[in-house]
Amino acid sequence: MHKREVLTWLKESDPAVLAGLYAQADCVRKQSVGDGVHLRGLLEISNICSRHCSYCGLRAPNLGLKRYRMGAPEILGCAIQAAELGYGTVVLQAGESDAITGPWMADLVRVIKDRTRLAVTLSLGERTHSDLACWREAGADRYLLRFETSDPALYARIHPPGVSGGPGRLTLLRSLRALGYEIGSGVMIGIPGQTYESLADDLLLFRELDLDMIGCGPFLPHPATPLGRDGWCSGIAADDQVPPAEEMVYKVIALARLLCPQANIPATTALATINQRNGRELGLMRGANVVMPNLTPELYRRHYEIYPNKACLAERPSDCDGCLRARIHRIGRVPGAGPGGRRREPIHV
Ligand code: SAH
Repeated sequence: MHKREVLTWLKESDPAVLAGLYAQADCVRKQSVGDGVHLRGLLEISNICSRHCSYCGLRAPNLGLKRYRMGAPEILGCAIQAAELGYGTVVLQAGESDAITGPWMADLVRVIKDRTRLAVTLSLGERTHSDLACWREAGADRYLLRFETSDPALYARIHPPGVSGGPGRLTLLRSLRALGYEIGSGVMIGIPGQTYESLADDLLLFRELDLDMIGCGPFLPHPATPLGRDGWCSGIAADDQVPPAEEMVYKVIALARLLCPQANIPATTALATINQRNGRELGLMRGANVVMPNLTPELYRRHYEIYPNKACLAERPSDCDGCLRARIHRIGRVPGAGPGGRRREPIHV
């Protein structure tokens, strides 16, 4: 698929034509990764962050947020619960900060790998090469790091560099690959200043990076962030601006599936947030094959506020699990078995 075709799909608004795209994506999903929907237990282990990203509620200047970092025994307990619920993977996500040191995290990964058969996915932001190498050595299997947008000027505006600089997310993704991680990335859809053209580039970059996992959700304004409060006058024409709309998310999921047939693609929590009734199901029917039940203890969950009104905020892990399994069965799919790593060979059914 060429950029022109991707762009045409992104601008398509006729429901009958889009139904064709979605059917094709669903068919490729079935052929390439099957009917299993992998459940990845998400643990938001800390909301402490030293960065100033203009879109994210965890940003350091947001003083209105009660900060926490879970203790290692507590995290291990939740990981064991993930295994007991039948999940193949635990995802450890956090703000980017020294609150999570390299050795502390390495010990934690080691103990989770010793005590369970879970695949461990990390989503801890931009870290030094030595931390990433040491966590891989400790047994971490996968790393999620969204590049957020492939437009360098837009990226620079929304994601100021950290104090120590660092190589940037695309370089980090390549290093993570070289270290032997499965790599995941993705973008927000409808960032103020994001053009259709740049979103088409994002999709082609997913293919170029040969991503194992692709997570995309709508940009959701957070009132305690510059981007959520004011947006900005971005200087692009109104009809070039990608809307943070539900339909756009489905188009991106479907196109990502066509461009990267074997990738693991979640129906994200942000998608479930803009359509709490059946956003996840529609994502799964239009190319996605992963959902991420939230395992974060209730005590912490409401403080991990990257954007407001997150779906499933009040649910306990066991309720979340039951609800997601019922949703999977209702659309004629089955919970995935095993760790659900990236397949390199298509399966034909
Ligand atoms: N500190 C880690 C994890 C951040 S949260 C990191 O930076 O990688 C994971 C993702 O949430 C981010 O990559 C971003 O794409 C998304 N996110 C953050 N703020 C958001 C917002 N206001 N609306 C929608 N998605 C958001």
